[in-house]
Amino acid sequence: MRPYTSALSKGLPRSLDQLLSQTSAQQHSTTSTLCSHSRRALSSASHRTLNDTLSRTMAPSARRSSIIASYAPMAATHVRQYSASPKSTTHARQYSVATPTRDASSFAFAFDIDGVLLRSSAPLPGAAAALTYLHKHNIPFILLTNGGGKHESERVAELSKKLGVPLSEENFVQSHTPFKQLVEGTETAEALKDKTILVTGGDGDKCRKVAEMYGFKNVVTPGDILMHYPDIWPFNQIFSDYYKSTTRPLPRPVDIQNLQNSLKFDAIFVFNDPRDWALDNQIILDLLLSKQGYLGTYSEKNGDSTLPNNGWQQDGQPKLYFSNPDLFWATSYHLPRLGQGGFQACLQGVWEATTGGAELKRTIIGKPHYETYKYGERVLNKYRAQLLGFGDQEEAITPLKRVFMIGDNPESDIRGANQFNSPRGTEWTSVLIKTGVYRAGTVPAYTPKVIVDDVFAAVKWSLEQEGFDTSTMEM
Ligand SMILES: [Mg+2]
Repeated sequence: MRPYTSALSKGLPRSLDQLLSQTSAQQHSTTSTLCSHSRRALSSASHRTLNDTLSRTMAPSARRSSIIASYAPMAATHVRQYSASPKSTTHARQYSVATPTRDASSFAFAFDIDGVLLRSSAPLPGAAAALTYLHKHNIPFILLTNGGGKHESERVAELSKKLGVPLSEENFVQSHTPFKQLVEGTETAEALKDKTILVTGGDGDKCRKVAEMYGFKNVVTPGDILMHYPDIWPFNQIFSDYYKSTTRPLPRPVDIQNLQNSLKFDAIFVFNDPRDWALDNQIILDLLLSKQGYLGTYSEKNGDSTLPNNGWQQDGQPKLYFSNPDLFWATSYHLPRLGQGGFQACLQGVWEATTGGAELKRTIIGKPHYETYKYGERVLNKYRAQLLGFGDQEEAITPLKRVFMIGDNPESDIRGANQFNSPRGTEWTSVLIKTGVYRAGTVPAYTPKVIVDDVFAAVKWSLEQEGFDTSTMEM
């Protein structure tokens, strides 16, 4: 993939070339070329805001409510079923409750999905057998993916069916899953449950619905704004048919003469890859330039050199969140295609051109970022607490000693696991497999603990490290 990316950058005008190299520092990609840029990412100030914003523990109330005794990966014989309607959703979900057991392992697994369990939506050999073995032996695992665009329940149902293994949404972490924490807020971020948020990305308004199922109550899409105020983007006719079927009334009109009653946004979430980059760029830019998030206004602090960042994003503008840093991703096309990271690079370029080079303050999650691994580890610890009979008191049990991260992408899965510094002292061991992005025989950009053929071999190797007799394991 290196020649592709190098060629791409080489022929570009200087400003765009700079843009690509700067933004690739904050993204990982499916190509190895970006590794050196990416290394800088975790130390950048803008990325530290990720930790500042999200890395603190959830508020106790949020923790209690989110820890439902519902982790399914236990032997089917230990599971009983009941339905409940959690506050954040409008439909009943199935919860499964495990009978507590005292022999939960001190290690666990985290699996990437694409290129590990599935390839082009089809199960990979050994995937079902490996997960079934873990179920059977009460060994906790999570699925940790940079994918998204659908609610966890929908993805879990699809995946369970494909693999023939019962899975639960509570141990399924998509790129946007950690955004759930912002419904109730954290120690450093305000609760957004009752605030107005802009959500973009994904098909139609699916991501709006996902956000609502998480518990956000006032979710607006760029399409809603365009259909109410077509003048906001002069080429509005191009996508109007697309937006027509999903448009909803705005919570408030845009009334800049009477700001108290005017439409105001408190956060911007790029949940998934945007489909209409032009409109999304325009509306996000409008909000980042606005006075306190009121659509249609322009902050008088913009460009004020006496203020930090020359006054840009210094006037209560909504915080900007991205769920996935991937610049490129593998699709059915023979060359990598632009991912959500491409949209981010585009927005950053527009921002720099508009502001004369000001920093674009934003929060990015998704592998390989710290917050996503921390969130995943928390989910695993909750699961173990259930297994050990401690309910939702995961702090009461000894932390996991080790998590095996099984992935196909050195730049995200392996890099993230290698760099993750667990707050509870858990060691993350990276296992690279050959059924996805990584090409056998090449040197991975980030060195895993071991490279094996496939997910089954990865689980087998890991279990052997933990002293398991795997002689009876069969694919
Ligand atoms: Mg993958």
